[in-house]
Amino acid sequence: MSESPEIPNTTDEDLNPYHMAQTQFDRATGYLPHLKTGLIDFFKRPRRAITVEFPVLTEDGGVRVFTGHRVLHSRVRGPGKGGLRYHPDVTADEVRALASWMTWKCAVADVPFGGAKGGVACNPKELDEADLRHITRRYISELGDFIGPHTDIPAPDVNTNAQTMAWVYDTYDALHPGSNNLPVVTGKPLDIGGSQGREEATARGILYATQAVLDSQILPERSSLAGADVVIQGWGNVGTHVFELFREEGARIIAVGDSQGGILNKEGLDKAEIEEHRRDTGTVVGLNGTITITNEQLLELPCDILVPAALGGQIRRDNAPRISAELVVEGANGPTTPSADSILAERGIPVVPDILANAGGVVVSYFEWVQNTENEQWDLEEVHRKLHLRMTRATHDVLAKQSELQQRLPAIREALEETRSKHPVPEVPHQPVTLRSAAYVLAIERVASVALARGIWP
Ligand code: NAD
Repeated sequence: MSESPEIPNTTDEDLNPYHMAQTQFDRATGYLPHLKTGLIDFFKRPRRAITVEFPVLTEDGGVRVFTGHRVLHSRVRGPGKGGLRYHPDVTADEVRALASWMTWKCAVADVPFGGAKGGVACNPKELDEADLRHITRRYISELGDFIGPHTDIPAPDVNTNAQTMAWVYDTYDALHPGSNNLPVVTGKPLDIGGSQGREEATARGILYATQAVLDSQILPERSSLAGADVVIQGWGNVGTHVFELFREEGARIIAVGDSQGGILNKEGLDKAEIEEHRRDTGTVVGLNGTITITNEQLLELPCDILVPAALGGQIRRDNAPRISAELVVEGANGPTTPSADSILAERGIPVVPDILANAGGVVVSYFEWVQNTENEQWDLEEVHRKLHLRMTRATHDVLAKQSELQQRLPAIREALEETRSKHPVPEVPHQPVTLRSAAYVLAIERVASVALARGIWP
């Protein structure tokens, strides 16, 4: 069973995630004419990228060599922080992109972490649990001291979960006995230092960010989730919890999809029925009382809110003109390409960007890290309250930055003309100012101010 994106790229659009991340960054720097050129270069490249090749004795008796990556993009605002992805399509460039998004995400959410990411190219569907345990232990031991509680802290991402994080912790702890190593990884099981609320944190953050943007009248005729028609791509950690939380707020989830395709019922879907069907068949597709659709059709369904919560590069130049949602909220990392961003902006469809929308995961990871460091355990209400506060504040900060940039646009353009003669700024500011550019500008300003205050070492 292949997990590669089933939506064919029908244009020659560059879907390399690292190039996408760099274009997004370049666009944002167009709004920052006074940013020191050296800093642009500094922020664009990862501080460190490691690739490890390691053998694993698999349960079928063979030996297989796997390729793993760990990229530390920035440690300006704190230790690197970022998930660990197991997927056949993992590449060094994908991990580089994901690591840079973590830097900007942590800055938008205002948690004191930098950005990092890891991944192993493997297909978990073809491996059993013992294989995954061996891969995890060997990968973490190969990384050695390149991860650590105060340097670079992994977490779950696609196809990894609390169990994987328990193995990460156990391996690191075996190699570094005698210290409190719990903060070396987040997303751990509750009885091994995990935080209440971490499992659903990303989705809960998406809920709070969505509520805050709806509250700000981003859609003239909708100020809450009650009665909204919602489409979700992805039936994993993020997708399933978004389903549940949006339903609780009165939204109707009319379509969902996984790697096999999608299902539609305009009257609304039932989570328990989908879960039972998926347990029996391995996919959401084919559930009684639903219409089977392709992932492409799923993304183009008319709805109030579309939540891509699977993989990157799903909304592109070729299908963006047909996206029929009123609002896109990015659960996944990098689901919208820069060309699609421009098309959606011209069409007046706002996109709540990944570096804001899905920051709830890293916010609660930060809470877990704090609890581990202090040997504390917060209750669920406290986690929810603190997450709500941070996600709402981050969303308001991004909205405020968007209005500020919009107002200052003529002055920014003028300043740009002056600075362009001295050093090139890659992109002229776009109109209208998207929430993505606003989030990037906010994040770059926050990282730049710390970088300048700390000074460039030595
Ligand atoms: P997951 O492994 O739990 O689920 C991924 C889902 O995507 C599965 O349902 C899978 O079937 C589906 N999928 C895979 N290929 C697909 C395709 N081609 N078309 C449609 N669906 C496809 O992963 P997750 O943790 O839910 O992460 C989903 C996205 O959210 C990723 O982009 C991830 O980086 C991002 N994210 C996750 C977290 C987190 O805390 N888990 C935090 C921030 C961002």
